[in-house]
Amino acid sequence: MQTSDLDQLQLDKLNRLLGEVWEHNPFYTRKWEQAGATLRRLASLDELAAFPFTTRDELVADQASAPPLGSNLTHPLGAYKRIHRSSGTTHAPVYWADTALSWHWVMHCSQALHLISGTEPGQRIFFAMALGASSGPWILFESACRLGCFCIPAGDASDEEQLQLLRQFNPDVLIARTETILLLAETAGRTGLKLKTLGVKKIIAPGQTNPRASALREESEELWGAKCFDRYGLTEAGSVASECLAHTGALHLLETEFIAETIQPDTGQPLTDGEAGELVLTTLGRIDRPIIRYRTGDWVRLARNHQCPCKKPGALLLGGVRRIN
Ligand SMILES: [Zn+2]
Repeated sequence: MQTSDLDQLQLDKLNRLLGEVWEHNPFYTRKWEQAGATLRRLASLDELAAFPFTTRDELVADQASAPPLGSNLTHPLGAYKRIHRSSGTTHAPVYWADTALSWHWVMHCSQALHLISGTEPGQRIFFAMALGASSGPWILFESACRLGCFCIPAGDASDEEQLQLLRQFNPDVLIARTETILLLAETAGRTGLKLKTLGVKKIIAPGQTNPRASALREESEELWGAKCFDRYGLTEAGSVASECLAHTGALHLLETEFIAETIQPDTGQPLTDGEAGELVLTTLGRIDRPIIRYRTGDWVRLARNHQCPCKKPGALLLGGVRRIN
């Protein structure tokens, strides 16, 4: 897609989002009125800068003041059909609600990322992630089912049971956090099972924000004889970016569904292409509970003028994603 075509597409989606959110979504309507942001329709993407950033602390405070979900709701509560929450390991948990329509958009994004990472309909995917309160594993699982993959959920099984299932089903793809991948390897080592005989060709390890991520990735690849692919998402946004088959450590960001900015975290000043800073996201299709200019707290190098060896155009997160704090 040409840059001008992408800009127009983003602008059209953004104006639709603003049209739905103004007056209907109490959180953003109040926030923008207080900030003096009055634009109802933008003439160019540059005008988005007139709107204030959204922070996680604001969402948490809003949720606490109007429990259980806060006021970032574009429709009455009855329209929402799913509730998930962030893991809350380092911060207060945030609950995220979706209507059927906004969940469909989340699925659409995740399916696109599965395809970017080379996952195809018909492939067998083993999920060593529990389907619990947080949205990440559900998104990965349900979107793979919709894509037409053969999906094996095993997150609640013991290490031994998971290895048994892996032996039985010989999946093409294993989806698990790096810690789980290494734990399975440890258990396999104790029982004399050679992981390389299981036939896993690809490992998708979402959330590689660990500072030791690249070392853990190399270790995983060596143990399993499979390539390890990174993927990035967050509760508030859904699935945002994925590594492609070029396997360079850079992630393709779905710019048709998100507007991404980078800022200097201390000053909020915008950064130029390829400069490292905090990622700021706007979800163009999760209209029913959006994030608009949301400070993710994640550190990236967003580059639009960098050609990935796979030749797919568009923005890249060079070197993956790291947590700022
Ligand atoms: Zn690529």
